[in-house]
Amino acid sequence: MMNYSFNDLSNKVTVITGGAGVIGKSICTALAACKAKLAIVDLNLDNAKALADQLQEEHGIEAIGVAANVLNKESLNTAKKEINEALGSIDILINGAGGNHPKATTQVEQMVSDELEGSFFDLDTEGFDFVFDLNFKGTLLPTMVFSKDMIGKENKGVILNISSMNAFKPLTKIPAYSAAKASINNFTEWLATHLAPQNVRVNSLAPGFFITDQNRFLVTKEDGSFTERGQKIMNGTPMGKFGEPDDIQGTVLYLCSDISSFVTGICIPVDGGYNCFSGV
Ligand code: NAD
Repeated sequence: MMNYSFNDLSNKVTVITGGAGVIGKSICTALAACKAKLAIVDLNLDNAKALADQLQEEHGIEAIGVAANVLNKESLNTAKKEINEALGSIDILINGAGGNHPKATTQVEQMVSDELEGSFFDLDTEGFDFVFDLNFKGTLLPTMVFSKDMIGKENKGVILNISSMNAFKPLTKIPAYSAAKASINNFTEWLATHLAPQNVRVNSLAPGFFITDQNRFLVTKEDGSFTERGQKIMNGTPMGKFGEPDDIQGTVLYLCSDISSFVTGICIPVDGGYNCFSGV
């Protein structure tokens, strides 16, 4: 019998990495409204704890803030122990930690002159590694650690990765972030196949353009008006606006719930039409 609500999410132990960030907070709020048990995992423990306390009070759920670095397996193992003791075995993992950094960003969109400075040839390789690792290994390692609980269980497990528009077509200036997010889509498909016999579904969603701390410097000026790049994004988004964090919630609930029980290995854009528009 088909389930017509998200009530199967009630009491599901759900880990959200980067859960204290802008998109993470929106995801946590949606899951709290469905009465999931939340482990908000973040580098910033204060923010994670504050959000857990707030959601606990507002929704009467169990929620904890947990400190961990998604790039450090030992810290993830410690976090898992804490989560298992406080909430039980993990049912759902959402890999939300990620982002871009100015050091992995070229200054120019195209090499219109032979000036090397600010071009691809001038990229800081450490900056490149940092962004690539945060977005790829920062999903790989938490998946290795947290989704182990889903193996050999009768209960179905769910893994949800956060991709980006860059996975379909790279945006200028941010090659590390683009390559890493493309690898997230590839990894999602690979892992979906690998874990299907274990009843674990693996999907991703690709947010379009949401203004958050990691991209504010690229799309808005200090006075709050759009940069040229911000305006280009607007022009490329048929719905004519940046996304609000809450716009992500319905897709998260759909992919986490049994409502999508035969869906695995896909990436859903949540982008106001950006991905479908040719620009002309
Ligand atoms: P954000 O900067 O608001 O949140 C990121 C969170 O991750 C922060 O709370 C930060 O403390 C945490 N974090 C960073 N490094 C970490 C680490 N090593 N270990 C643990 N936690 C860490 O960013 P956001 O915009 O909410 O981004 C969330 C996800 O959505 C990212 O994967 C991002 O790439 C993706 N995304 C965002 C947009 C957008 O427009 N904002 C678009 C596409 C994809």
